[in-house]
Amino acid sequence: MKYTIKELIRSDILALTPYSSARSEFTGDAKVFLDANENWQQFVGYRDVNRYPDPLQRQLKAKIEAVLGLPSAKLVVGNGSDEIIDLLFRVFCTPFKDKAMVLIPTYGAYQVFADINGVAVSTCQLKDDFSIDFQRLETICQLIHGGTPATGMHKLLFICSPNNPTGTIVPLDAIERIARGFPGIVVVDEAYHDFAGGTSAVSLMERYPHLVVLRTLSKAWGLAGARVGLAVADEEIVAAMNKVKYPYNMSLLAQQCAMDALDKADQVRQEVRRTITEREKLSKRLKQLAFVEEVVPSQANFVLVRVRDADCLYAFLRDKGIIVRNRSSLRGCYGCVRITVGSSAENETLMTALQEWEGLR
Ligand SMILES: *Cc1c(COP(=O)(O)O)cnc(C)c1O
Repeated sequence: MKYTIKELIRSDILALTPYSSARSEFTGDAKVFLDANENWQQFVGYRDVNRYPDPLQRQLKAKIEAVLGLPSAKLVVGNGSDEIIDLLFRVFCTPFKDKAMVLIPTYGAYQVFADINGVAVSTCQLKDDFSIDFQRLETICQLIHGGTPATGMHKLLFICSPNNPTGTIVPLDAIERIARGFPGIVVVDEAYHDFAGGTSAVSLMERYPHLVVLRTLSKAWGLAGARVGLAVADEEIVAAMNKVKYPYNMSLLAQQCAMDALDKADQVRQEVRRTITEREKLSKRLKQLAFVEEVVPSQANFVLVRVRDADCLYAFLRDKGIIVRNRSSLRGCYGCVRITVGSSAENETLMTALQEWEGLR
């Protein structure tokens, strides 16, 4: 590693004294809690909702460790991955000085949170098959080289695997190659890892402590509405993120919901297998449609499909009440729509509409 993690963290954040909440100053058991100006009574049917939640979500982290095998000391849990991505910008990037890098086409949130935080983004286009173009990446890295933590530099590089919207994975050796060369923090967003199986980039973290891995309970775990995302990171990064995050960044309800879902791991994993079967079935049927030019092999719970007249097809489906994601104006995804794998009934409804569209052409 060219720089230590401490050197990469914003110096003003390292020096920051965080807010200390009542719930973090006293955490033991007691008879009477009169320290947080809470109400002793509650008026709705959610257990303990009158009390402030644990700012560090210790019970939830223990459960995440037990079920997902991710070390609780290296976890930050947030209000969706969105919060985690935003926190990474706030911890590492000094506004209007540091920069970030993304491999496009990819998840739009990296760019948006960079914009909000005053962080310029360099992009590196993926190859036509959506694999990493190392020649291009190395050329860009040489061009952007020269910055330091003192003068401003590319602090974050985002790799999304399986990638949204392509569904393709970035192999571990490619991630390792980037981790070896990139002087800043390499963030691997594994939001769709449950659908891909394979080895997680978490396995590289011991050798590359400047790797951060993101997960979410929004997809396979069915909790998009509860907002639960997490990062696995080196303890020094965890400490900095904990200083910067809102003290009670996750509601008690979200924490309880997450623990309930993790208790159902067997069922969730069975449903993931079912989604994968549906994905393969759907991909195969999509390929048979005359107006479909390409179905990108997916390792996630969606498929990217290149079609003739994507905008017209999108409007046709929308008018039938079927909403897919139109990605046709995204560089690298021209003519593509992204379709989430639904229930078999929903997929059937989609296929019926697509067959009707085929007949009209
Ligand atoms: C859906 C998704 C997430 C999850 O975001 P949440 O804020 O946790 O719901 C993260 N990264 C990618 C690439 C996604 O597609």
